[in-house]
Amino acid sequence: MGTHIWGYWDCPYCGTKGIRGDNKKCPHCGIQIPPDTKYYVKEGVREVVEESKLDDDAHWICEYCDTQNQAWANYCFNCGSPRSDAKRDYFGNRLNGNTPQQPLPPVAGETGTNAAAPKSPFKKLIKLLIIPLIAVLLIWIFLPVTRTATVTGFEWERTIAIEEFTNVSENGWSLPQNAHLHETRQEIKSYRQELDHYETRTRKVSKQVQDGYDVSYRDLGNGQFEEIRTPRYRTEYETETYKEPVYRSVPVYATKYYYDVDKWVKAGSAVSSGADKSPYWRDTGLKTNVSSPAYGDRREGGRTEKYYAVIAAKNGKEYRTERNFTEWQALSEGDKIKYRTSRFSDKPLDDF
Ligand SMILES: [Zn+2]
Ligand SMILES: [Zn+2]
Repeated sequence: MGTHIWGYWDCPYCGTKGIRGDNKKCPHCGIQIPPDTKYYVKEGVREVVEESKLDDDAHWICEYCDTQNQAWANYCFNCGSPRSDAKRDYFGNRLNGNTPQQPLPPVAGETGTNAAAPKSPFKKLIKLLIIPLIAVLLIWIFLPVTRTATVTGFEWERTIAIEEFTNVSENGWSLPQNAHLHETRQEIKSYRQELDHYETRTRKVSKQVQDGYDVSYRDLGNGQFEEIRTPRYRTEYETETYKEPVYRSVPVYATKYYYDVDKWVKAGSAVSSGADKSPYWRDTGLKTNVSSPAYGDRREGGRTEKYYAVIAAKNGKEYRTERNFTEWQALSEGDKIKYRTSRFSDKPLDDF
């Protein structure tokens, strides 16, 4: 519980201002404080309630004469009516009907800038919605789409790699079998980071320092206010020294082999292509394997093949889309085929 300070009220009949909360009657005209008159905190005045008068409970309003009575009083001090007949208290909360008293939000005080409104749940909701919405939109934009187009033609390309048996000079960290070693050298293979020393450096660090209080007041409904002090913080910066490790690069040596070796190397390729449906492999006149080859001997290496359907897209342009051989073979001109493209284009994603 915070400190209690006195609140004040203004007399609505004679206009007397700033009557302290423990006066139930206007000292000028003598009328009772009317039931709907509210207490307030006087700017620049802070009268602490003496211990004997501390009270946490709101006044009840007499059902018959509208007098405000202290919560502990069982009978109206003006007309003697029982408290059990009262229907409401200072805050307008129902009495004797078992409706619990609702605590009122604190009233902003004069030095208190603590009247920060609670963050609007609407803003939170917007934040919560916007991010997934943008994510969904991006996915929608960038996810490929499937479209249908008409096949207007065919293309194909078949490639056979040509290899030649030769002798090559190479070097490396290991010696292959069948290689002819010329020499070995100790060379730098990698670098290792080794701690060299520590350097003392400075950096700025921020600190939260308590800097007074924000004060707000809660109307207790009985002429008193609870003073609520909330600590206020400010950010302070200070320079801090720390030790930072400094590393040096240390070379790691290993044996490197310099050698020559006989091997098959790529020497060219035999390409055939066409814009029809009759693919064939070029006749290279070479075998795929040569036993005990001599320098200059040639052989066929690996084969690659690509098959495309030429399509007329919705935007009026022609594109190629790659298909596997089986599917390609089964296609005819005029067929409708599905292909993948990006949302804002008709170009197939596999057409480069
Ligand atoms: Zn008065
Ligand atoms: Zn009364």
